[in-house]
Amino acid sequence: MNNTIFQLEENTINQISAGEVIDSPYSIVKELIENSLDASANHIIIRILDGGKRSIEVLDNGCGMSVEDMKICYLKHTTSKIKNVNDISLISTMGFRGEALSSISSVSKTHIQSKRNKDLYGYEIFIENSVIMKENICPFNNNGTRIIVDDLFYNVPVRKSFLESEKTSKENKQIIDLVHRLSLSSPHVRFELFIDNLLVFRTFGDNNIKHVLMEIYDKNLVKNLLYIDTEFYGVQIKGFISKAEDCIGNKMKQTFFVNNRYVKMDILNSAVKAAYNEYIVSSKFPICILFLNLDKKQVDVNFHPRKTEIKFQNDIFPSIVNAVKNTLEKHKSAPSVLTTNSTQTIHTKDVIIKSEIEEQIVINNQKTIAPEQWNQSKLSYNKTIEGNDTYQYGFAQYPNLKFLTQVHSSYLVAEYDGGMIMIDQHAAHERVLYEKFVSQFNKKSLSSFEESIPETIELNSSNFFILKQNMSFFKECGFLLEEFGGYTFIIRKYPSILHGHNVKDMIYTLLDEIYSNEKSYTIDELVRNKIIMRSCKKAIKANMKLTTSEVEKLLNDLMKCENPYHCPHGRPIIISFSMSDIEKLFNRIV
Ligand code: ADP
Ligand code: MG
Repeated sequence: MNNTIFQLEENTINQISAGEVIDSPYSIVKELIENSLDASANHIIIRILDGGKRSIEVLDNGCGMSVEDMKICYLKHTTSKIKNVNDISLISTMGFRGEALSSISSVSKTHIQSKRNKDLYGYEIFIENSVIMKENICPFNNNGTRIIVDDLFYNVPVRKSFLESEKTSKENKQIIDLVHRLSLSSPHVRFELFIDNLLVFRTFGDNNIKHVLMEIYDKNLVKNLLYIDTEFYGVQIKGFISKAEDCIGNKMKQTFFVNNRYVKMDILNSAVKAAYNEYIVSSKFPICILFLNLDKKQVDVNFHPRKTEIKFQNDIFPSIVNAVKNTLEKHKSAPSVLTTNSTQTIHTKDVIIKSEIEEQIVINNQKTIAPEQWNQSKLSYNKTIEGNDTYQYGFAQYPNLKFLTQVHSSYLVAEYDGGMIMIDQHAAHERVLYEKFVSQFNKKSLSSFEESIPETIELNSSNFFILKQNMSFFKECGFLLEEFGGYTFIIRKYPSILHGHNVKDMIYTLLDEIYSNEKSYTIDELVRNKIIMRSCKKAIKANMKLTTSEVEKLLNDLMKCENPYHCPHGRPIIISFSMSDIEKLFNRIV
C-alpha cells in the first residue's frame, strides 16, 4: 500500500460532505423550498426535469439577496439565519446549518438569480465545482430568487451512476409528496409544481388547508372530512379526520405535523387508529391530517434533513385518542346507502383540467416570469366549500320511525318520515349489550378488589424489571403488587372488573404490551376486548325470528345507545335510504 498522505482538495471535501445533506433530487427540492419559505415567499414555483436528474428549479417571490450575500451564499457554513453558537438551538429546531447551498453547488451546475425589492437590478451567478464561473447583472426582474440546479452529480461519477439507476417516476413521486406536505404546512403560500413542463400540482395560497387538501385528494372525500380543533393535556390538535364510512384500506392518507414540521411515526398512526376502533373494522384505516402543537421543550427534534421522527417527552397517545374520539362521537351517524366510498385518489395529473390550466402552462413555459405575469397566471378560483355541516344526534334524524318487517330473520326494516333504514339485528343487540357492560364496568372499575388469600406471580428477569419500572401504571389500573423476593410479586389487589378472570394472564399481557412498546393498550382496552367478546356471544344472532315486541325493545334500547350506528367491532348497524337516495337509485332524479 502506498502510505503517502494527501490533504484532500477543498472541492473534494465539499463533495464528500455534500452527501450528508444532498443525496437525491428530493433533498435538493426540500432545501430550496425551505429557503424560499425562510425568505418569506408566498409564491413558489418548482420545475423538475427528468426526475430532477437533469434540472431542478425553484423560483420564489421572497426577500431576495444582496449581491454581496449572493457571492458568499454558496460557500460552506454561510447563513443569514444564525450568527453564533448562542443561536445553536435554532439549528436543532429549524435546521439552519448553512450547508444546503454549498452542498448543492459542489455537486451540480448551479445558477442563482436574485433581486431584492429595493434593488434596481437583479444579479446572477453561475457556480461549478464550488467556484463562481460567471456573474452578471441579471435580466431577472422579479423580486425574489430563482435557483436552478442542473446536471446533478455530474462531477461525482459514482453518485451519478447511482442516481441514473433510480427510477424517474420514483423521484417524481417523492417530490410530489414533499410539495403536498409543504403546501399543507404552509397554506398561505401559493405553490406550483411542474414536472417535465406539465403542471401537476398547484395551490392557491389562500390559507385554507381544506382547499389544499382538495388539490391533493378527491374533492368529495375532502368535503366529508370532519374538522378537529381541540386541546388535550397541553397538546393542541387541529386538522381533519375522515368519517368512519370514508375510511380506506391503508394508512397512506394519514399525515402528521408536529409544531408544523412533517413527521412520520407509527405511534401517531396507531393512536388515530385506536380512536376509531369502535367505528371501523380492523382492516380499515382513517384518513387524517393532524397538526399537533406543543411546547417546544416537550419535543426533542434531533434535526437531520431527512429525519422525520422526533421524541416526545410525554406520552402523546392519550391526547390524540381523546381528540379524535371526541370528534367522531360528535359526528356519528348512520352511513347512507349512497355514501360514496371515496377510496380513489385523484392522481396528481388528474388535477389538470385542460381548459382551466392551458393558459397557465403557456405562460409558465417561458423561462422567466415577469411580475405582472405572476398575477396573470392566477387562476380564477371560486369554489364554494360547504361550511360546518349540521348533524343530528341519536334517532332524532329518523322521525316517526316505524318497524315494518324482518328480512331473512336477520335484518330489520323500518320507515321514517324522510325514508327508510335497515338494521343488522345482531350488530344492534351487540351494541346494546356492549354499552350495558361498559357502564357496569365503569361503575366498578374505580374500585380495586382484594382477594382474601393473595396469589403470587412469578416473573422472568425482564418482566420483573419492566414491572418495577411501571409500578405506578399498574397502581393506576387498580393493582396493588408487593415484592416477595426473587422475581416474585404478591397480588394484594387487582381491578374489580377482573374478578373471575385470570388476573395473572392479564398482568403478563400488560407486561408484553409495555415491552413491545405498544402501551396503546391500557387495562381498559384489554377489558374492552373482553367485553366485546362477551357482548358478541350473548347477542341475538342472525337467522333468528324476532317477535314484534322483541324488535321494539331492541330498537328502543338501541335508540338510547351512545353510538347506535356502529357495533363494537366498527361495523355499521344501520344503513339509511333517504327518499332522495331511493329516487336516485330508480333514476327518478339524478
Ligand atoms: P441556511 O438555510 O441553513 O442558512 P443555505 O445554504 O440553505 O443555509 O442558505 C444560505 C443562505 O443563503 C441563507 O441563509 C439565506 O441568507 C440565503 N438564501 C438561500 N436561499 C434563499 C432564497 N430563496 N431567498 C433569499 N435568500 C436565500
Ligand atoms: Mg437552507
